[in-house]
Amino acid sequence: MPEFWGRLGLPGLADVHTHFLPPRMLRKVWAYFDAAGPLVGTEWPIRYRWDDEARVAHLRSLGVRMFSALAYPHRPGMAESLNAWTLDFAARTPGCLPSATFFPEPAAARYVADALAAGARVFKVHVQVGGFAPTDPALDAVWGMLAEAGVPVVVHAGHAPVGTVHTGPASFAALLARHPGLAAIVAHLGAPDYAAFLELAERYRHVRLDTTMAFTSFFDRFVPFPAAELPRLRELGLAGKVLLGSDFPNIPYPYAEQLSALARLDLGDDWLRAVCWDAAAALFDLG
Ligand SMILES: [Zn+2]
Repeated sequence: MPEFWGRLGLPGLADVHTHFLPPRMLRKVWAYFDAAGPLVGTEWPIRYRWDDEARVAHLRSLGVRMFSALAYPHRPGMAESLNAWTLDFAARTPGCLPSATFFPEPAAARYVADALAAGARVFKVHVQVGGFAPTDPALDAVWGMLAEAGVPVVVHAGHAPVGTVHTGPASFAALLARHPGLAAIVAHLGAPDYAAFLELAERYRHVRLDTTMAFTSFFDRFVPFPAAELPRLRELGLAGKVLLGSDFPNIPYPYAEQLSALARLDLGDDWLRAVCWDAAAALFDLG
């Protein structure tokens, strides 16, 4: 990996989509993947089942200089304590973006304002696991606040791996129609509806995409990216609208597979530099 980014002349890698959560909750997430629960839908043997320190050390050894701690609730009443944990984790972990989340519930606007005041620089919501519509009225004030603050929010909005009534490009487009200034980062390039999400990133100035799991042979088995759309992905990447994401540690293959997958696309070194570092460096003001 250091050879990969060194050859590109980069100072390292910026990965906007990694997960660190309270250890008890992470064990539950892993158990869910182990059981291939209904929202996972396929065998998913997680590779990096290590404690926080070992996983941070591994990211550093790979040259990942910026990462996130994307936690997300699956029911009401959880988000605020997750935020306390992820913000504390970032404060004691150099390189980790202060991360926060929310859920459609009456307290959301208050605790999102608190998280912003505490320095949150990236948010995450998972429409599939959360089981809510992005346009849920209980979130309207939250989206407005994030758009105004210009703070990015990683949204798992696509149908993959298993769609629900709230996932997919139509619900997400409805959200953007209401909040066109939202700095949303569409996780997994919006898989499997790549073209529809590329179109939203083209149409809305502040909408970006992350590469999480896309193009890996694991992902290609069930949600392959259409080759005909690669020129659009190239343009968006060169415009700084595609960010490296990996889903580390919840991946069933080595981290380097994400980078090999991006390199295999053969979209050029400028594209790789933009995706692996420059886009995030601009968005998050990395030195
Ligand atoms: Zn993820």
